[in-house]
Amino acid sequence: MDQIYEMVIGLEVHVELKTKTKIFCGCSTSFGAEQNTQCCPVCMGMPGTLPVLNRQVVRHAVKAGLATNCRITRYGKQDRKNYFYPDLPKAYQISQYDLPLCTGGYLDIEGENGAQRIGITRIHIEEDAGKLVHQENGTCIDYNRCGVPLVEIVSEPDIRSASQALAFLQKLRAILLYIGVSDCKMNEGSLRCDVNLSAHKPEEPFGIRTEMKNLNSFSSVRKAIEYEFKRQVEVLSAGGTIDQETRRFDADSGKTYTMRKKEDAHDYRYFPDPDLMPIVIREDLLRELQGEIPQLPDERKRIYMERYGLGAYDAEQLVTEKEIADYFEKAVSFGGEPKQIANLILSEVFRLLPPEDPKIPVSPEHLSKLCALTASGEINGSTGKKVLHELWRQDRDPEEIVREQGLQQISDESLLSRYVDQVMEENPKLVDQYRSGKEKVLQALIGQMMKKTRGQGNPRRISDLLLKSLRK
Ligand code: ADP
Ligand code: MG
Ligand code: ZN
Repeated sequence: MDQIYEMVIGLEVHVELKTKTKIFCGCSTSFGAEQNTQCCPVCMGMPGTLPVLNRQVVRHAVKAGLATNCRITRYGKQDRKNYFYPDLPKAYQISQYDLPLCTGGYLDIEGENGAQRIGITRIHIEEDAGKLVHQENGTCIDYNRCGVPLVEIVSEPDIRSASQALAFLQKLRAILLYIGVSDCKMNEGSLRCDVNLSAHKPEEPFGIRTEMKNLNSFSSVRKAIEYEFKRQVEVLSAGGTIDQETRRFDADSGKTYTMRKKEDAHDYRYFPDPDLMPIVIREDLLRELQGEIPQLPDERKRIYMERYGLGAYDAEQLVTEKEIADYFEKAVSFGGEPKQIANLILSEVFRLLPPEDPKIPVSPEHLSKLCALTASGEINGSTGKKVLHELWRQDRDPEEIVREQGLQQISDESLLSRYVDQVMEENPKLVDQYRSGKEKVLQALIGQMMKKTRGQGNPRRISDLLLKSLRK
């Protein structure tokens, strides 16, 4: 039944900008401070106070727009979005309505079926709200987060699967980290995602969407999408209709629940904030900011593909974390074979790396050397892994480790032949099985050979010699 429905997704991503002070006052934005120690009459919305826009917020937001191929609004403004919530003491949020700072951009992702372009509708600046702290005896409010600067990045409904949604978020996060406008820590709430999702039959117009708010991990985004699509398809297949509503995703049960019926823009009574000046972006500022944009992930990806012959998917994996891309380039600069270095990073290094902290404890020079040792046949692949693990614990010259522990690959034909004879003699059953057509047992015999060589045999040689004897 599912197959006839297609999912349609648009994302709204809230990103806390990296500034020392808040968007309209001088309070600190640092994370984790004691509750209600970083607020003042301005960010707490006391009557009679006046907001003053933090220049850095505009610079960061414009850079985010430039890096995602947006048009920059040269004459913008800020608007009040009216709604009541206990963590929003003014009862309105200063945001942007019809003149957002950036519009009409896009991002390219590496989807299941190759490259795909996802439109970015708009990027606007706004202030964050406070935080409700639920305790046993009631709910308290921490205003430290009130007035922390945000950009909201809204995508077009161009996304068609959970994997594409994650690829979009990953790419967006990569770009924001490259340009240094946010630390994008999902676990600290500096990157949060709302998922808008509908289901329709491809030949029909888009369906009615629901919105799942404030998802704060990639795995929640995936689970929320999968659950909600299934739910909508069940309703639609049974002849029902979807209500446009905001739903809450519960990470523990993996389900979504109705939170409130969706409000429309007119419910917010947006109007220009009379306390704030228009935002004017002059040509020279635009040029200055353009000049501050470093080489972006896509540019690096293109170079890796063209210069080093990497596949699109592998190249994308390498550029997603700037530290990893820098590391890769450094290792290549020490003379290692780029494709080999890439393979080692994407397999063994990624396996060893904790996802929260992509810092490789092995120097790029040593990794490059390790690759060279495997490439020259000095050690075999499985020894390479062993040495890498060793380097992980204590970073030093891999050649030293190989020498000290006598890990050189054993390729000597007469020695290997002697082992082959022994292994054949000790495993007559396997030999018989092989000779009567069960060729899979070759692997078991190779395994025995590896044991004899303490994992250091040359696998290619071993299999050649074994086959020669088996076919006798
Ligand atoms: P609002 O301001 O009410 O949240 P927007 O027009 O800004 O509404 O759209 C919010 C998000 O919903 C955007 O990311 C957009 O791509 C997405 N969206 C719009 N229509 C659909 C739809 N039919 N299905 C899925 N997502 C949609
Ligand atoms: Mg919305
Ligand atoms: Zn303040």
